[in-house]
Amino acid sequence: MHSEEQKRLNPLDMVLAQIDKASRYLACDPNLIEKLKHAERSLMVSVPVMMDDGRLKVFKGFRVQHNTVRGPAKGGIRFHPDVDLDEVTALAAWMTWKCAVMNIPFGGAKGGVECNPKEMSIREIERLTRRFTAEILSFIGPEKDIPAPDVNTNAQIMAWMMDTYSMQIGHSVPGVVTGKPIEIGGSEGRSEATGRGVVFTILEAAKRMNLRLDGATAAIQGFGNVGASAAKHLCREGARITAVSTSKGGIYCDRGIDIQALQSYYKKNATLAGFEGYDVITNDELLHLPCDILVPAAMENSIHKDNAGGVRARIIAEGANGPVTPIADEILKDKGVFVIPDILANAGGVTVSYFEWVQDLQNYFWNEEEINEKLKMLMVSAFKKVVNIAEENKVDNRTAAQMLGIGRVVEATRVRGLYP
Ligand code: NAD
Repeated sequence: MHSEEQKRLNPLDMVLAQIDKASRYLACDPNLIEKLKHAERSLMVSVPVMMDDGRLKVFKGFRVQHNTVRGPAKGGIRFHPDVDLDEVTALAAWMTWKCAVMNIPFGGAKGGVECNPKEMSIREIERLTRRFTAEILSFIGPEKDIPAPDVNTNAQIMAWMMDTYSMQIGHSVPGVVTGKPIEIGGSEGRSEATGRGVVFTILEAAKRMNLRLDGATAAIQGFGNVGASAAKHLCREGARITAVSTSKGGIYCDRGIDIQALQSYYKKNATLAGFEGYDVITNDELLHLPCDILVPAAMENSIHKDNAGGVRARIIAEGANGPVTPIADEILKDKGVFVIPDILANAGGVTVSYFEWVQDLQNYFWNEEEINEKLKMLMVSAFKKVVNIAEENKVDNRTAAQMLGIGRVVEATRVRGLYP
């Protein structure tokens, strides 16, 4: 059920409001800020696909490069019925700030196809992926723009993108996408990097709040790549996951959920329903559970004006991009919730994507221990920088993260100057 606020909320408006807010504190040249309000390039394509029943269906696809001042554009590909140009543009802008917060040499991009992969066969998804890749082929490349997985896309889909691109170019180009299988140049640790990174930031937040993760309780909304790996790594730290959910609803158990068993069950059945010994709950009930940590790891705007008041968690770690609306942000601030904003909390994915790209370019691969160590170092360092900015300027963590990210992009734009 969507509230009025959610229906009206265009993520691109959120982005523009966030730029205005952060730039007030940064006090930088308004001309530089103006440039950041616009995506550098947006490509909209038709993706004709022959469906299994012999019917031709034409899907709408998008790739937006928001900013490439600090390096090639980087960002995921989403397959979802709600994908549109404004959503993709907003997600691309958040990628620009995220890469800058982590201080990795990428700009921001995002792509997507308006489709419902849950109603498509695996072969239809492959044909869609390959044709979409062919349509955006001249736009992407290891030096230009590097896609990765996002909602409803995964390592297999990245493999098809990499193969399609390589077949057209005439040789294998592993660096054109990240989040691909290890066998074709993927990185150790990439599949769990986002969830692992979320937990690195939760550990830092917990330290500041004198909260021991061993014995703490957590609720996770979304049990996909990000949610499931965040749940797994929270368990490893000794936390009790009392609830998880998917788009179809969730399950609850005060004793704690066996995440490993649930993951195997979900993989086999593609639903949480029927997993024995747990109570069924709705997504809103999950958000209102008494718990120490809440990880929204599904879609934008899931915590909004009408349900933010009922949140009882002490820490919210945004596994998803844009899960908290601006009004909900204010409500959570008044309640004293420690929010770890998306462009920091879920930056582990793009960080290990960066490691993957570096390994592909040099054809030399690191082991998982090295990857996780480097990831931890960057996440902890970014967390500390953001929290220091928040304290020094008396702003919330989201504004602080935007200040760090936007500030770095502004500085790079200033030194490069305006072409021509
Ligand atoms: P995914 O497709 O693997 O999983 C999405 C999960 O969210 C699924 O369990 C789905 O059932 C659930 N979901 C969808 N709509 C929901 C709803 N309305 N209520 C509750 N659950 C719902 O996707 P993912 O890669 O895990 O991405 C999740 C979020 O994390 C997105 O916002 C994405 O942009 C962000 N993110 C992903 C990565 C990554 O590396 N995959 C990196 C950074 C950020």
